[in-house]
Order: sequence, then C-alpha cells, then structure tokens
Amino acid sequence: MPQNIPLKLPAVVWNGRYKAHAVPKQHPESSHRVDVILEALKKNKLLSEENGVCVWRKYSHGLRLCHSKAYVELVEKACASLNKGEVAFLPTGDVTIVRESFSVAQDAVSSVCLGIDLVMQGDFPSAFVVVRPPGHHAESEKGMGFCLFNNVAIGARYAQHAWGKSRVAIIDWDLHHGNGTEEIFLKDPSILYVSTHQRGIYPGTGQEEVRGKKGEHIINIPIEGGPSSRSALLDFYLNELPERLLEFKPELILISCGFDAHKLDPLGGFTLESEDYGEMTRALVKISASLSNCPIVSVLEGGYNLDALRESSVAHVLGFMH
Ligand SMILES: [Zn+2]
Repeated sequence: MPQNIPLKLPAVVWNGRYKAHAVPKQHPESSHRVDVILEALKKNKLLSEENGVCVWRKYSHGLRLCHSKAYVELVEKACASLNKGEVAFLPTGDVTIVRESFSVAQDAVSSVCLGIDLVMQGDFPSAFVVVRPPGHHAESEKGMGFCLFNNVAIGARYAQHAWGKSRVAIIDWDLHHGNGTEEIFLKDPSILYVSTHQRGIYPGTGQEEVRGKKGEHIINIPIEGGPSSRSALLDFYLNELPERLLEFKPELILISCGFDAHKLDPLGGFTLESEDYGEMTRALVKISASLSNCPIVSVLEGGYNLDALRESSVAHVLGFMH
C-alpha cells in the first residue's frame, strides 16, 4: 500500500464488469450511473491509483449468506437461458436481466466484500463501493426493483462471518424502503436497520413509522415527499440518528447509499441538495469517531439523475474526509 495516502481518503471500489449488465438504453438503472460517478470522483482528485480498487475476484460463498440456494439457482438459470444480447425480466420481479447479469451481480457482491476487507484490515477508514445492479430491494428468495442480490445485507453477514463482527448497522438513505434488507434481518437483532424513505411509493413496505423502542433493531421512517422532506431528512440524520447508533454500538456501519433522495431525481419527491449527502456523511463519520473509529462502508443503491449522481457522490466522498 503506498505511504502517501491522506489519512481519511476512502477506498473507492467498483466492479470491473459493471457495463456487462447491459439493460436497454432507456432503463434508468444504466451503466452511465457508474460511469459518471467514477468520472466525477477522478475529476475532483478523489479517485486515483492510490485509493481506487477495481474488482474482478469473486467471493463464491457470498450469495448464500442471505439468499436461498433455490433463488441463487433461479437467477443463474434465468440468465444462462438468454442468448447474447437478449433482454428479459427476472421471473420473481421487476428486474431486467441479460445473459451476463448473474455474473455481474456476483461481482457487485464481491466488491462490497472487498470494501469490507479493506476497512477491516485497516488499509482505509472507509470505503465507497460503486456497484450495480443495486441490492436493497432483493429479498432472500425474490429479486425485484432492479436488484438481484442484496449487496449490503450480504456485506453485513460477511463482516460477521469473515471478520467476527457481532453488531452491524445499516443506514439506508435511498429514496425507497429497503424491503429486502428488512426481510432478511427482521428476526436478527445483531443488525440495526435504519431506513428513511418516501411515504406511499414503491415498494409499498416500511410505510408505518417504526422508530423503535430502545433496543429494537428495525427503524423505519417514512417521510412525505415535497419541500419539507429535506429538513425532515437532515433533522433525522443530524439530530436523531447519532443517539440511536451510539446506543447500538455497531462495529461496522454500512450505508445503503441511494442518491435518489436528491431533488433532481426523476423517480421521487425528496428534495435533498447534493451537499446534503456530504453533511449526512460527516454526521456518520462523527458518530464513528465516538465509536472507536468504527469503519464505514457505503454501497451505491439508487439514484437516476446523472447530474445529481456526479455532485452527490463527490459531496459524499468529501464528507468522509472532514
Ligand atoms: Zn431507490
């Protein structure tokens, strides 16, 4: 590892074959999303040979940490049955697949596991894992919402199994509720799952406010779309979340980092500014400092406006450094 890495620069990890999950051009979850994030980070000197890690290695057991054997085989077979260039829907839900999708989704999971390795080894205090397809809608036996495998949930289990971490917090600030993450950890109090999401939209779960009593591990906060959403989100992340995290005492913080809560996003009605992602990130870094520098690994979820992705990802990575 080079010696001249600024102390607080996060690792930026991405899946080398992300373009091979080649959904049609008009699909919102296109490979341009990752293209523009990587370009923006490079342009702002936040991604270089010193902190950039392109992943080609597969962690073969990762998928089964959170998904059934039958579901993994279903995805593998559904993709393998397609001809080169053919596009289809996954049988369980609204996920566009091509022949290479299974393999690319495995690489996304591998990228998350590698990001966790990098922070656990102490190479970096934090990591931003820029992957597609996203993951938080994928349940243990059901892919949906552009998601095949639950990247962040598998990351949490991987940290427990490979690194002996007993308590992991997942902070999900994507516009949508992470129904998959909730389903996977509903009965597992070793994982704290916190989700803010727009009330009344896809996937329809998480609509009842569950702030949770002390010690409860699922916190769902639906928020009305519109101009008031920005202050509601910032108030939660800056003023309420710190106490909840300090009470849970995680040994790893994972972020389900959707940039679709941005005001420019075409899919929702939240009104975050790009810089707010930096503010929310700084709040988490501050909490981490109070938790013996608990590592943070952020994993890309949604976000479908390319300008918002550029600006928000730069603000997010800068947030790790201040
Ligand atoms: Zn989303």
